[in-house]
Amino acid sequence: MDFHLSEEQRLFRDSVRRFAERHLRDGALARAHGDGYPADIARVMARNGLFGIAIAEEDGGQGGTLLDAVIAIETVGLVCPRSADVMQAGNFGPIRVLAEYGSAEQKRKYLAKLLAGEALIAVAMTEPEAGSAVTDLKTSATPDGDGFRINGTKVFTSHSPVADLFLVYVRFGPGVDGIGSVLIERDSPGFTRGRPTRFLSGDEWVQLYFDDVRVGPEDVLLGKGGFKRQIAAFNVERIGNAARSLALGEHAFDLAREYASTRRQFGRLLCEFQGLQWKFAEMKMQLDAARLLLYRAACNADKGLPSAADAAIAKAYCNETGFRVANEAVQIMGGTGYSEETLAEYCLRRTRGWMIAGGSVEMMKNRIAEAVFERRFSQRPPRQAGAT
Ligand SMILES: Cc1cc2nc3c(=O)[nH]c(=O)nc-3n(C[C@H](O)[C@H](O)[C@H](O)COP(=O)(O)OP(=O)(O)OC[C@H]3O[C@@H](n4cnc5c(N)ncnc54)[C@H](O)[C@@H]3O)c2cc1C
Repeated sequence: MDFHLSEEQRLFRDSVRRFAERHLRDGALARAHGDGYPADIARVMARNGLFGIAIAEEDGGQGGTLLDAVIAIETVGLVCPRSADVMQAGNFGPIRVLAEYGSAEQKRKYLAKLLAGEALIAVAMTEPEAGSAVTDLKTSATPDGDGFRINGTKVFTSHSPVADLFLVYVRFGPGVDGIGSVLIERDSPGFTRGRPTRFLSGDEWVQLYFDDVRVGPEDVLLGKGGFKRQIAAFNVERIGNAARSLALGEHAFDLAREYASTRRQFGRLLCEFQGLQWKFAEMKMQLDAARLLLYRAACNADKGLPSAADAAIAKAYCNETGFRVANEAVQIMGGTGYSEETLAEYCLRRTRGWMIAGGSVEMMKNRIAEAVFERRFSQRPPRQAGAT
């Protein structure tokens, strides 16, 4: 066992760092407080080979490993937290599910543009009555000729105000096996969006309404019985989510270390107070542990997709660590940390959301408990005797 990056990985990390310093350092604060999706950054990243890092070369990707993608998103987030979301969109989110399961025609139609940063895909799973219990989703796909009619409502979809394409979880029939997914373009007849609402992070989302939206057979990504495969690929999204939590925790940590190394109170540097030194020691231990868990999940997945248990452990721990560290960083930086003049408060707000998004910390812990006891624990109420 070796806890060091290989020479190739180090060179890759250094080249991403140079890219980030050159293209992302300036404007990082403004980007975090800006509206909308930084599409300009997406195009620059794509041109520099930072999109599709772990997607196969024959699909237009870079043919790297999941760990390469993790190293890249972490490095970007260390320099520009908001740009890490763009790395997520170009590497870990629904783009990866499309690359994994899309037909040759779907990839030809959509993947090239997504990998060039010229289009954006969003994943619409969550519904008003189906959040953590995502398999309760009701959005229906009813047969219509050789295709389907989609009816339903989705909430909380990241990038929903601006995405060009939506990977929509739908129900082809009853039960978990009835769930699959379809691809729906932004301007499809019957597809409308509600008024924008803001998350705590500042990001906007809109409610999505599907009213008899017609999809052809060529728009089905995974048909009936596709849910388990879809969630298997969704574990990649969880790794990206975990990596951003870690990166933003590290970003806030660096800001706090710099502050404590230069700020004087009571005639001494802040870093000379033991009460603050111990905060830094705790933060350092937690960040290192989080990174090891994240890299383990990514390394074990290099030949495919991360395991559900590895992904759950990495996500829950990175989510909690990123938030805790960002919170401590704000405390150490006092009024400066709480103010919008540095990115510490942004890291705090942003990491908070990832404890809920992509499977909450509690749902990850439910999954970890199943791995511990090697059995499934249904979250649903026990069936009453005699009930059908
Ligand atoms: C920043 C952000 C981005 C998001 N992006 C997307 C996206 O792109 N696409 C998308 O489809 N959705 C997205 N979501 C939605 C997200 O997936 C859901 O918010 C999440 O699954 C939780 O669902 P809920 O909000 O309905 O909460 P609920 O399911 O109502 O849960 C409320 C609370 O109860 C806890 N809880 C629920 N069940 C259990 C249980 N069995 N055991 C223990 N605790 C439990 C939860 O952990 C949570 O703390 C996003 C959310 C956020 C915050």
